[in-house]
Amino acid sequence: MAKKSTKVKRRTKRSSKGPDLPLQLLKIFSSLAVLVVVVLAAGVVAKWLIGTAPEQPSAAVQPDKRLPVPEVKSPRLPVYEVFPKGTPAAKPPTRLPQLPGARPPLVAIVIDDIGYDRRIAERFMAMDVPMTFSMLPYAPFGREINEQARAQGLEIMLHLPMEPNEYPAVKPGPGALLSEMSPDELITQLRANLDQIKGIKGVNNHMGSKISTSSDRMRQIFSILKQHDLYYIDSRTTAETVARPSAELLQLPFAERDIFIDHIDDPAFIRSQLKRLIHQAQQQGYAVGIAHPHPNTCQVLEEFLPRFKESVSLVPASMVVRQAMLVESPQANAIK
Ligand SMILES: [Zn+2]
Repeated sequence: MAKKSTKVKRRTKRSSKGPDLPLQLLKIFSSLAVLVVVVLAAGVVAKWLIGTAPEQPSAAVQPDKRLPVPEVKSPRLPVYEVFPKGTPAAKPPTRLPQLPGARPPLVAIVIDDIGYDRRIAERFMAMDVPMTFSMLPYAPFGREINEQARAQGLEIMLHLPMEPNEYPAVKPGPGALLSEMSPDELITQLRANLDQIKGIKGVNNHMGSKISTSSDRMRQIFSILKQHDLYYIDSRTTAETVARPSAELLQLPFAERDIFIDHIDDPAFIRSQLKRLIHQAQQQGYAVGIAHPHPNTCQVLEEFLPRFKESVSLVPASMVVRQAMLVESPQANAIK
């Protein structure tokens, strides 16, 4: 009995003494380590499961990346639409020729893509003729050029960036109307663009070969232009444009570009296009030419001004739109 109790005592002594403490600690640490490993492994598995699940874009949580459009900081010069076949879509033939002996035919020269190059805009203004500036929204020098041009009596248009067929390889720039937009987004963007340019009388399209073929889109755009009492000039960047029937439906003052003056940036070509512009105006009584802020265009226009003044009357775009409406849609009473 005595021996047994001694043994028990010894065991008790041994267990309460130092030699067993590291073992207990080891057990605790190993348990903790296992727990940590299990938690980490669960985390990794959860992350893997979430990461490999297909992304579900939610309209509710996704912020709208398009609105509002940030200001352009660097004055990168805009590109204009690429014409896949090398030549712009031709305007349909003249419907009603000008009667002989009538007043000089009206010609509007619209300079597109204004707002990125102040010096060349000033050069156009210095010609002191009633050309029309079509200004891109969010352009770095838009506000100054606009004020200066209006002070000189030039007519101002919004040059509305619209999706081309080549999008997204070719981008129309800040404020673009895209076919993927909902009607609400498109209208909100359009209104923001209209607010950008003070004192505009009308709108024409920058690029837009894709949007211009959608009746729904063009009617959405034109319903807003109608509210703002603006005209629309179809730049005709595609032969499949439905701008005219859409404008007729909404009785929106409307005209079409007759001649692109400088899509080949070469003085000889620009001269021949200006001759075509005069000829077209003589044929139908009016014509719209669209040019771009290129030094060659400036130089050839300066040379050509005396010839213009002899044969045609250079007027703001709104006057040509009015004339075009009288000739092409005499029943329309939307024009003031
Ligand atoms: Zn343009």
